[in-house]
Amino acid sequence: MSETRNPLDLAVERAKIARRVAVITGAGISHESGIPTFRGPDGLWKNFRPEELASPEAFRRDPGLVWEWYDWRRGICAKAEPNPAHGVVAEMERTYPEFLLITQNVDGLHARAGNRKMVEIHGNIWQARCTVCGHRFENHQVPLETIPLHCEKCDGLARPHIVWFGESYDEEQLSRALTFLESVDLVFTIGTSGMVSMPVFLAERAREEGAFLVDVNPSSSSLSSLAHLFLQGKAGEELPRFWQRTREPNGRKQD
Ligand code: NAD
Ligand code: ZN
Repeated sequence: MSETRNPLDLAVERAKIARRVAVITGAGISHESGIPTFRGPDGLWKNFRPEELASPEAFRRDPGLVWEWYDWRRGICAKAEPNPAHGVVAEMERTYPEFLLITQNVDGLHARAGNRKMVEIHGNIWQARCTVCGHRFENHQVPLETIPLHCEKCDGLARPHIVWFGESYDEEQLSRALTFLESVDLVFTIGTSGMVSMPVFLAERAREEGAFLVDVNPSSSSLSSLAHLFLQGKAGEELPRFWQRTREPNGRKQD
């Protein structure tokens, strides 16, 4: 395969013949569904920056305030619908024999779009965890009836089942992602800034293992520099356009 070909043609060709594909998504993929990113202009709530609320210290200081913020965010997520970019990621799962979605998003939109082979490395906004007995449970009330939320088993104080700033990742989930990336053909990073170090680490690992990387984002970052192809633009526009091209027959065999 000639490396002098343009990166877009090369990526389309790779996407046509790939068998094992990973997609890594960040807050940007849900932006066109109306969910603010943290660092974007609409990321503030009552003048608090997310970093002031999404931490164990903030929760210790004022669990009610942190739950109020989550209650507001859950309201936004409940109203949001998956957008065309979520649709393409779900179609990728149906297309490739081996597939894994590694998402930092907590909004549940990928599952609603149809993805099942997925690790939610930052948790899920519809799940809570008891700070006393550790019990994990689903809660879909919008708005919440009582704030802060309490455990359905022991009535202890519950917290959102989210990996906050300064907290560690779930080992099992992370190792599932890393193992999958060991021999992957193609990796998409979509709507993540490179300010969170995990997607950069994962993409670097995949690249070292020989994967072809495609980054989709309106803004450039360390991830776009790392990628073989940078699709600069909104995920809901760039990804369906790219996917359409990979679906076009061009006489090449799928094998
Ligand atoms: P981030 O670092 O992943 O940044 C968001 C990225 O999205 C930016 O690079 C931005 O340029 C890009 N972007 C904006 N609009 C886009 C579009 N239309 N298409 C493609 N990309 C677009 O994430 P963050 O906002 O700094 O949040 C940090 C963490 O907080 C996330 O990793 C996530 O765990 C959590 N978070 C989740 C959600 C969600 O679940 N929807 C929303 C906000 C934050
Ligand atoms: Zn409990």
